[in-house]
Amino acid sequence: MNLGEFELLPLSDGTFRLDGGAMFGVIPKALWEKRTPADERNRIAMSVRPLLVRGRGTNILIDAGIGDKMTAKDADIFAFDRTNTLDRSLAVAGLQPDDIDIVIATHLHFDHAGGFTVMVDGRAVPRFSRARHFIRRGEWDDAMQPHERNRASYLRDNYVPLLEAGLVEFIEDDGDVVPGVRVLRTGGHTMHHQIVRIDSGGRTAVFAADLLPTTAHLDDPWIMGYDLYPVDTLMYKKRFLAEAIAGEYVIFFEHDPLIAAGTIRQEGSRKLVDAIDPSVLSA
Ligand SMILES: [Zn+2]
Repeated sequence: MNLGEFELLPLSDGTFRLDGGAMFGVIPKALWEKRTPADERNRIAMSVRPLLVRGRGTNILIDAGIGDKMTAKDADIFAFDRTNTLDRSLAVAGLQPDDIDIVIATHLHFDHAGGFTVMVDGRAVPRFSRARHFIRRGEWDDAMQPHERNRASYLRDNYVPLLEAGLVEFIEDDGDVVPGVRVLRTGGHTMHHQIVRIDSGGRTAVFAADLLPTTAHLDDPWIMGYDLYPVDTLMYKKRFLAEAIAGEYVIFFEHDPLIAAGTIRQEGSRKLVDAIDPSVLSA
C-alpha cells in the first residue's frame, strides 16, 4: 500500500506454529481458542511477515523471518512451512537480497532475525550483504548474554556474522532511521524490543512486531507468556492503542495468520480490526 511517499509491502517467510498457551499468557484456553483454534498439539498458526518499506530511493526491510537454519527437530516442534520464503516474496517485489539498503531489527529472536544470515559452506554469512543493519544496543547485549529464560530464542549465527562483516549500526535511542521512519522502544517482550513507525502524507503506519503479534492480542491482558516483562507490555500497549485508535494508524501484524494489516477501532469493551484489503497491500 502507499503511505505518502512510501510504499509498504508485507512480505512472507512462511508460517509456523507456537503453543497457544504460551501465546496468550494468563488467558485461559477456554477463551483464547474461540479466537484462535489450536491443533492436536495445542499449537496455533502464525505467519512470519517482514515488512518492506520503499521510498526516497531506499529499500528498507523490517525483520527478516526465520530463515533456513532450523534443525529437523525444530521444524517438527514449530511446524515450519517455508513454501513461501522471504527470497521468493522479495523476488515478487522485483528485489534481490543485495537490493536491500537498510535492515531494521525489532529484536533478535529467531523468528525475526533468523533471515539476517544464510549458511554458505557450513558458515553463517550476512544475507543482505550491502545493508546497514540497525539493531538496538541493549537488545544486542541481551542477545549476547542470554539467560536460561530467553536462551532458546537467541541464536548467535543469526546476528554475530553481521557485526563481523561491519554491517551493524547500533541504535542507542528512539529516533529516525531515515526521515519518516523511526524506531520506538516498547520494552515488555524483551527489555529493548522496538516497533517501527512510518509517517508520511499525514498518515501513520506502525510495524508492531511482538507488541501486537496477532489481532487476537489487542485486548489489554492478552499478552504473550513469552514476554519477559508483561506488565511493561501492558502499560505500553494501553497507551499505544489509545493513540493508534485516535490517529487511525495502519498497524502491521507480523504474526497474524490471516490479517497482515488493519486499523483498529473500539467497540464497547472490545477492540476490533478493520483489515486492509489484501489486494491493496500487494499492489
Ligand atoms: Zn515473534
